[in-house]
Amino acid sequence: MSSRPPDHHTIIVGAGFTGIGTAILLDRAGLADHLIIEAGAEPGGTWYWNTYPGVAVDIPSFSYQFSFEQSTRWSRTYAKGAELKAYAEHCVDKYRLRDRIRFDTAVTGAEYDDEQALWRVHTDTGTVIARFLVNGSGVLTVPKPPDIPGVDEFAGVTLHTARWDHDVDLTGKRVAIIGTGASAVQVIPEIAAKVQQLTVFQRTPIWCFPKFDLPLPAPARWAMRVPGAKMLQRLASQAYVELTFPLSAQYYTVFPLADRAAELGRAYLRREVHDPVIRDKLTPQYAVGCKRPGFHNSYLSTYNRDNVALVTEPIERVTPTGVCTADGERHEVDVLILATGFKVMDVDSVPTFPVTGAGGQSLGEFWSTHRLQAYEGVSIPGFPNFFTVMGPYGYVGSSYFALIEAQGHHVVRCLQRAEQLGAHRVEVSAQANDRYFAEMMRKRHRQVFWQDSCAQANSYYFDQNGDVPLRPATTVEAYWRSRRFDLADYRFSAE
Ligand SMILES: Cc1cc2nc3c(=O)[nH]c(=O)nc-3n(C[C@H](O)[C@H](O)[C@H](O)COP(=O)(O)OP(=O)(O)OC[C@H]3O[C@@H](n4cnc5c(N)ncnc54)[C@H](O)[C@@H]3O)c2cc1C
Repeated sequence: MSSRPPDHHTIIVGAGFTGIGTAILLDRAGLADHLIIEAGAEPGGTWYWNTYPGVAVDIPSFSYQFSFEQSTRWSRTYAKGAELKAYAEHCVDKYRLRDRIRFDTAVTGAEYDDEQALWRVHTDTGTVIARFLVNGSGVLTVPKPPDIPGVDEFAGVTLHTARWDHDVDLTGKRVAIIGTGASAVQVIPEIAAKVQQLTVFQRTPIWCFPKFDLPLPAPARWAMRVPGAKMLQRLASQAYVELTFPLSAQYYTVFPLADRAAELGRAYLRREVHDPVIRDKLTPQYAVGCKRPGFHNSYLSTYNRDNVALVTEPIERVTPTGVCTADGERHEVDVLILATGFKVMDVDSVPTFPVTGAGGQSLGEFWSTHRLQAYEGVSIPGFPNFFTVMGPYGYVGSSYFALIEAQGHHVVRCLQRAEQLGAHRVEVSAQANDRYFAEMMRKRHRQVFWQDSCAQANSYYFDQNGDVPLRPATTVEAYWRSRRFDLADYRFSAE
C-alpha cells in the first residue's frame, strides 16, 4: 500500500448528534483536525431523515440536549422533530463545524492499514485517510422493510416513516399502516382525521403512556434564564428519565417499577379506549420495558374513531391493491405506510458500513463469532484506532445525549493520552474487553429483559443470539466510568 500521510487526525462518520457532539469534544481537547463524513445533505441525523407527521422526541427536551449547550428556547416540553433539527444546525454553526462536514458522501467501507497504523475510509466519492476513526453512524439509521410477500408489488403509494414523502397528500385516501412501534404511535393520531379510512396492522401492541407535553410560552422560557432554574429543570427531567427507563429496566429485580408501570398503562388504556375488544387487542402481554414504549396523549383514543380499524390477524401478503390477512380478508388501500422501524441489532447494520480491522478481520465476523461486545461500549480488540459511540453494552436507555457525552469523553481521553505519548496506535486489550463483557453478563440478571413475557414482545433490543446489548447500569455510573476507566486497559504504541 502507498505511504500517503493521513488527510486528517480523525474521521467521524455521521453528522447526527453523535458526530456533532464528538467533534465538539475533540475541538475542546485541542484535537481539531477532524472531518465528519455524512451521507445526508444536512446535519441532524435522525431528525434530518425522520420527518413524518407528528415526529417528536419521547423524553423531555431539557434532557434531550447537550449539557454544555442547554437551550432556553424550546417551544414545548417535548420538542418536535423540526426543532431538534434546528438545534443540530445551531450547534454546527455555533461550534464552527460546518466547514468540517462533508455532506452527501456515504462511507462504503473502512480498512485498517496495519503497517501505517491508519484507517482508509472509502466513500462514494473517493478514499480519505485518517489516524483515528469514530463511528457515529447511528443505530436507528437503516430503515427495515417488512418481510412480507408482495410488498414490492403494491401499485399504490408506499411510504416508510423514516423516509416520508411530503408530496403525497393523504387527504381522503384509504391508508394502511403496518407496525405499531414508537414511530407509528406518533404518526397514527396525526393522520387519522385527514384520511378516509385508516387500517392499522398490529403484530405486537405497544405500551403507551401519556406525555407531559406542554407548550412553553415566553414567560416560561424567560424563567429558565433565572440563575439556577435551568439546572433545577434539568435535574428534575433527568430524574424522570432515569426512573422511566434505566432504573425500571436495568434494575428491575431491585426496583420492580415496571410492574407498577404496567398497572398504570392498563388503567390508561381503560380510560382512553371505549371498545373492550379493541382495548384487549391493544393490551400488551409482556412486561413494560421489554421493548421501547410509546408516549402520546392521543394514540390510544384514536382507535375510538369510526374511520380507524385495528387489524391483528397476521398479514399473509400485500397485493397490488391492498393487504390480505390470514383470515382471507382483503383490505383495499391507496397508500401503504411502513412503520416497520430499523435494522438495529444486526451485525451488518451497526455500523452501517463494513469495517476491516488489524489482520483483515471483519467487525461483522468478529461480532458474529464472539457475540456483540465492546469494551465500555466503545472499543473492540483487533480494531486499533477505532471507536464506536453507540457500541454494544454502551447505552443504558436514558437520553442519547448522556451516552454521546460519556462515550465522547472516553474517546477523547484515549486520544489525548495518545498525543501525550506520541502514540500512533491505540488498541484495547483483549483481557480488558473480556473483563467488561463478563461484568455485563454477570450484572444482566437484574434487567427486565429476562422476564419470560419478553419473548412475546418482538423487541429490537434482542439480537440474533438472544442477547440485549444494553448496559446494565445507571446514567451516573456510565458517566463516572467514562471519566475513570483505566487507560492501562489500552495499549499505546508508536509504530
Ligand atoms: C423517530 C425516532 C425518535 C427517537 N426519539 C428518541 C428520544 O425520544 N430519545 C432518545 O434519546 N433517542 C431517540 N431516538 C434515537 C436517536 O436516534 C438518538 O437520540 C440520536 O439522534 C442518535 O444520534 P446519532 O448521531 O448517533 O445517530 P443518527 O441521528 O442516526 O445519525 C447518524 C448519521 O450518520 C449518517 N450515516 C449513517 N451511515 C453513514 C455512512 N455509511 N456514511 C455517511 N454517513 C452515514 C446518517 O445519515 C445520519 O445522519 C429516536 C430515533 C428515532 C428514529
